[in-house]
Amino acid sequence: MKKKVKFEFVEVQYFTRHGCHVCGGCTDKVNILCEVKTGQDKGMRICEQCLQAGKEQVDARLQAHAKELEKGAVHMRSMARYMRTLVGCLEIPTYEALEKANEEYVKANYPDYVPAVARKARRRTYCRY
Ligand SMILES: [Zn+2]
Repeated sequence: MKKKVKFEFVEVQYFTRHGCHVCGGCTDKVNILCEVKTGQDKGMRICEQCLQAGKEQVDARLQAHAKELEKGAVHMRSMARYMRTLVGCLEIPTYEALEKANEEYVKANYPDYVPAVARKARRRTYCRY
């Protein structure tokens, strides 16, 4: 017997668009979302467009989304292979050279700008590694 994944209405925490796991699109900015509240699929969401399309369309939308994800996976595998071909090939400037280039840019374009010392200490990087 196939498992049942039950969606229920939940109030939004943030008034913004939310991803739809069924079609891969997103909701509009709505007050009520339709999500799975418990179990293995907790947090799975269906958007109002999928609901509007109706129950008979939901499987086709899931299939289309799955196909899209598989296409993306093929692309990501290809990108991963390409990244590996680059190992040992990159010729990059130093971080210090980047800082110097930034400073020169600021001096040339914003001559009155005085950098805050505290800002440098708080600098965060978004690099994942
Ligand atoms: Zn959807």
